[in-house]
Amino acid sequence: MTGLRWGLIGASTIAAQHMIGAIRANGGEVTAVMSASADRSATFAREHAIARGVSGLDELLGADDLDAVYISTTNELHRDQVFAAAAAGKHVLCEKPLALTLGDARAMVARCHERGVVMGTNHHLRNAATHRAMREAIKAGRIGRPLFARVFHAVYLPPNLQGWRIDKPQAGGGVILDITVHDADTLRFVLDDEPASVTAMTSQGGMGREGLEDGVMGVVRFASGVLAQFHDAFTTRYATTGFEVHGEDGSLIGTDCMTQAPKGEVLLRTKDGAAPLAIAHENLYARSVRLFQEAVAGRGSPAATGEDGIKSLGVALATREAARTGRETAIDLRV
Ligand code: NDP
Repeated sequence: MTGLRWGLIGASTIAAQHMIGAIRANGGEVTAVMSASADRSATFAREHAIARGVSGLDELLGADDLDAVYISTTNELHRDQVFAAAAAGKHVLCEKPLALTLGDARAMVARCHERGVVMGTNHHLRNAATHRAMREAIKAGRIGRPLFARVFHAVYLPPNLQGWRIDKPQAGGGVILDITVHDADTLRFVLDDEPASVTAMTSQGGMGREGLEDGVMGVVRFASGVLAQFHDAFTTRYATTGFEVHGEDGSLIGTDCMTQAPKGEVLLRTKDGAAPLAIAHENLYARSVRLFQEAVAGRGSPAATGEDGIKSLGVALATREAARTGRETAIDLRV
């Protein structure tokens, strides 16, 4: 198929660094970008060879040369932008977290269904070849019954991103809405299991302000009984990332895999010794766009659907509540 004609809602870092390239790699065209600031949209359009930079949603969505939008504004804006795009009949790939409340996220997904447009959540990590290989190895029974998982996703937030994430609660800042949502989606995908409850503690290591956490550790209890431990932070300069699943008959040790780049490896350890899984790396964002475009063409679903976005938000909000109350908290997975 030829690629879609996309409008960018949000002149963001993620669009500049990953998504414009991913769209173009799939034969898609970026026809316009919208920013709240006319200056920013004009500059962004010029820097990225986009035909139009606009500063109003109606102007963007009213254009005929647009099939889909990619929404990567700050998190409190996603809801109304999804509503507007769906009303205009445009397919929607929205960044995580979908919204700040589950009610809003459900309404966004419902609106896209009502309007007959495809909706995806841009959870890039389920597009990683490492995580897909782990999911397949578990399904093939190579580690037996999974018992535990561990997610290492503590990073250092680069200086250019030390803005709303660390000082704007009203924009959906904080490490839980930023990173724990990704852990939740990746765990659901790799384990093919649903989270039931969570317990967590947060910390402020010097970056988070206005009461926002910049570190969190927690444990999710899955429906099958698997316990999954996670560690997310903005403040660790020298940590590495990883994703492990430990089963009755073997362990999968993924290293350097909770990243935006197509890299990392997975070791399978069993009674026969240790051997790496075969990994065919592919750009995570290009795969996300490819599957989204396929879904628009009527073939399959986006890598992560709107419903997946609701569920990852459900885990994040329950994590916040668990940290606040000190209690194991049930996760609301209703979509
Ligand atoms: P940015 O801070 O780069 O951009 C967010 C918004 O901030 C933009 O839409 C823009 O508003 C405004 N902005 C950006 N730069 C400036 C500036 N120099 N001056 C003034 N305003 C500015 O955010 P990210 O790209 O990091 O994140 C955007 C969204 O994408 C979030 O929802 C985030 O959670 C998600 N994300 C997802 C990732 C993934 O891998 N799935 C990775 C990173 C982020 P305007 O458009 O009005 O100009």
